[in-house]
Amino acid sequence: MTAVPLGVPEVPARQVAPRRRSRRIQVGPVAVGGGAPVSVQSMTTTRTSDIGATLQQIAELTASGCQIVRVACPTQDDADALATIARKSRIPVIADIHFQPKYVFAAIEAGCAAVRVNPGNIKKFDDQVKEIAEAAKEHGTPIRIGVNAGSLDRRLLRKYGKATPEALVESALWEASLFEEHDFRDIKISVKHNDPVVMIEAYRQLVAQCDYPLHLGVTEAGPSFQGTIKSAVAFGALLSQGIGDTIRVSLSAPPVEEVKVGTQILESLNLRRRGLEIVSCPSCGRAQVDVYKLAEEVTAGLDGLEVPLRVAVMGCVVNGPGEAREADLGVASGNGKGQIFVKGEVVKTVPESRIVETLIEEAQRLAERMK
Ligand code: SF4
Repeated sequence: MTAVPLGVPEVPARQVAPRRRSRRIQVGPVAVGGGAPVSVQSMTTTRTSDIGATLQQIAELTASGCQIVRVACPTQDDADALATIARKSRIPVIADIHFQPKYVFAAIEAGCAAVRVNPGNIKKFDDQVKEIAEAAKEHGTPIRIGVNAGSLDRRLLRKYGKATPEALVESALWEASLFEEHDFRDIKISVKHNDPVVMIEAYRQLVAQCDYPLHLGVTEAGPSFQGTIKSAVAFGALLSQGIGDTIRVSLSAPPVEEVKVGTQILESLNLRRRGLEIVSCPSCGRAQVDVYKLAEEVTAGLDGLEVPLRVAVMGCVVNGPGEAREADLGVASGNGKGQIFVKGEVVKTVPESRIVETLIEEAQRLAERMK
């Protein structure tokens, strides 16, 4: 069985930048803000009322490294399912609610670790912001205020003409003030836009005006390839300045993919201990082996290995030995053979047909030693 990484993930010593100082909130066992490790979250795509399917998807997300999961709650049946889902999920569950105060109370009562709701919407239709603040305070349930370009208040659209960074920030701070009036500050904020440039600017402006922890997101980022790039660029720009406390990559793809991308972004910036890392060359006219195939086969063969391991797969003897020597494990190929390196030493030379299996054997041996 693959080990499920739960709890506080390890953060390597060398940081890209000092983290912004923010308040800390507690989403179940996962701390967000106040210097806590940046967490990865996602959202289920099942009907929340389908408890079995939702828990199954949460289990898959948990196994892929997701630390916080959000579920939509647009109907009474969904609200009724929250208690069981919150109890059985191994990671904290956030209920995502838009207009109905009664679902907010249900989610708090159900033991959800947090609720995403914008008090502005609540005020507009059935003003129970005070009661929500009281219930959330009583249960220790934090709230995420999520401002989205697509659902920006009409008043702000009129004032700014469109969803500018200023409009997103004004909206978020106004929403927060509706809770602050009732002395409730157990809040995190997101200001999402589908354009990374606007999104980055909005978060930068926001950090100058509040100390709430921030949930980063590029909304409607698109299909996998485009969404991955947009999210990596936007999150990278902010995280490399210490901005951001929890991230959600939004892809038009299965949510497990979002978690993989989010995890990779954090690992790339040393905001999370790197797991398996394949260092493979792009190949060129000097390659003496099919590097793409080799890298793919090694990646597939090592999938699920739960140890931090840097594996170099290099196509020739130009940069090959150097990179392979620097990695935990590596191969430098040439002349139909592969020189296998372990911790900087050549341990054997094998025919090309045995490179993949040899690397996998050696990786497993190293992983055993690291346990
Ligand atoms: S390691 Fe060799 S094959 Fe790979 S890119 Fe460099 S020079 Fe080309």
